[in-house]
Amino acid sequence: MSFSKHMRAWGIRDKNIEKVLRIPLEERKPSECIELIECPIPQPNKYQVQVKILGAGLNFNSIWQSICHPLTPRSLIESHIRRNPTQDFNGVGYYIYGSDGAGIITAVGDGVKGWNVGDEVVIHCNYVDPTHDSLEYDQMKSPSQSIWGYETNFGSFADFTCVNASQLLLKPNHLNWAQAGSYMLTLATAYRMLLSSNGALLKPGEYCLIWGASGGLGGYAIQLCKLSGAIPVAIVSTLEKKNYCQSLGCDYVINLSDIGNPRFVDQNGNPNYVAWKRFKTHLSKLIASEVDVVFEHIGKETMGLSIYLLRKGGRVVTCAASSGYLASIDLRYLWMEVKSLIGSHFANYSEAHAANSLVFEKKISTTTEQIITFKEIPEYLDKMYFRKGVFGKIGVNI
Ligand code: NDP
Repeated sequence: MSFSKHMRAWGIRDKNIEKVLRIPLEERKPSECIELIECPIPQPNKYQVQVKILGAGLNFNSIWQSICHPLTPRSLIESHIRRNPTQDFNGVGYYIYGSDGAGIITAVGDGVKGWNVGDEVVIHCNYVDPTHDSLEYDQMKSPSQSIWGYETNFGSFADFTCVNASQLLLKPNHLNWAQAGSYMLTLATAYRMLLSSNGALLKPGEYCLIWGASGGLGGYAIQLCKLSGAIPVAIVSTLEKKNYCQSLGCDYVINLSDIGNPRFVDQNGNPNYVAWKRFKTHLSKLIASEVDVVFEHIGKETMGLSIYLLRKGGRVVTCAASSGYLASIDLRYLWMEVKSLIGSHFANYSEAHAANSLVFEKKISTTTEQIITFKEIPEYLDKMYFRKGVFGKIGVNI
C-alpha cells in the first residue's frame, strides 16, 4: 500500500496498546483509550476503492477495540492477516476504528468494475478476500471473512478509507450523510438474525422478544419484526427507552426498572430461577402467548433465561454478549423442549443488499437519533458504553 498526503483518524497507535492493557478492565473508559492520529491517506489496491468519508456511525465494536477487550486491535488484525495471506497489508503502526460509513469514491483500483470516482456510496463491513471462491456462497462462512474497521485497518473514523469494491452499496438519496453512514452494520445484522434463512426466519404472527430494544440492533429488530408480520416484544431499562420503542411502533414493552431490575444470574453466573419464573409470569400477563423467537445480544446475563422463555420448538438467535461471553445455560430447557440456539454474525452480501433495499424503498426508517461531530466520537462511545441517554444509532458528520 502506498500513501500520499495526510488525514485525521480515531484509533490507536500500536505503541499505546500496552498502556491500555495496564489499566484494570473495569476501569477502562473508551474515551481515555482511543486517540486522534494524523496519518497518510491510504491508497486503494487492485480490488479496492478509496472513499472520502462524509458520514459514519458509532458501533459497539469500536468500544471493544478502544478498551482492547476481549482482543486488542493488534491481535484482531494479526488474525486477519493470517487468514488473508495473499492480500497486501503493511504494518503501519496504528489502527483506525469504525465499521459503518458513507461517502464519495475518490479513486478506483485497476481490477474494480462498475464503480466510478464520484459515486455516492454506503459501505458494508463484510470483508472477504476478493480472490476467494467462497464469493458464490454465504461469505460469512469464508475463512477470510473479517469485519472492516474492526478486524481490518482503515475504518470509517477518518477522512478517507479504502474498502473492497464488494463492500459498496448505493447511497439512498433521501438520507443525509450521517444517516447514510450509520445504519448498515446493525440493520444488516438484525436482518440476517430475523429475516434470513441463516437466522430465525420469522413468520407472521410470531412473538419475538428483543433485548436492548432501544439500541442500535434493537431499533432495527423492532422494525424488521413488524415488516415481516411478527409481533415485537421489547425489553428496555428506562421509561425514556420504553417511550422510544413505542414510538417505533412496538406495542409490548417491558421496562426492567418497573419490575425491580432483576438479576437473572447470581454473582457466579449461575441461573436465578426465581427471577426467571417471575419474569415469565410477567411476560405471560403482557402477551397472551409464549415467545417464538428471542433476539439475543446480551449474553451472560440473559442467555439462560432467553432459552427458558421460549415456547417448545422456539429459537434464540444471538450475535453478541455485551454482558459477558461465558454464559450458563440450563440445557434441559433446550433439548427437552426441542429449541434451537442460532449463532449469527453481520450479513452476507445478498443479506446486506436486501437490507439496503428496505431503506431505499423506505420500508425501514433509519434510527439515527443523534448526529455528532468527528471530535465528539470518544465522548459518545462512553455514553454508549455506560448506557447513558442514547437511543437508536449515533451518526457522525465527518
Ligand atoms: P447499543 O449500545 O446500541 O444497544 C445495546 C442495548 O443493550 C442497550 O441499549 C442496552 O439497553 C442493552 N443492554 C442490556 N444489558 C446490557 C449490558 N450488560 N451491556 C450493554 N448493553 C446492555 O449496542 P448495539 O445494539 O449496537 O450492539 C449490541 C451488542 O451487539 C454489542 O455487544 C455489539 O458489539 C454486538 N453486535 C454484534 C454484531 C455482529 O455482527 N455479531 C453486529 C452489531 C452489534 P438497556 O439499557 O435498555 O438495557
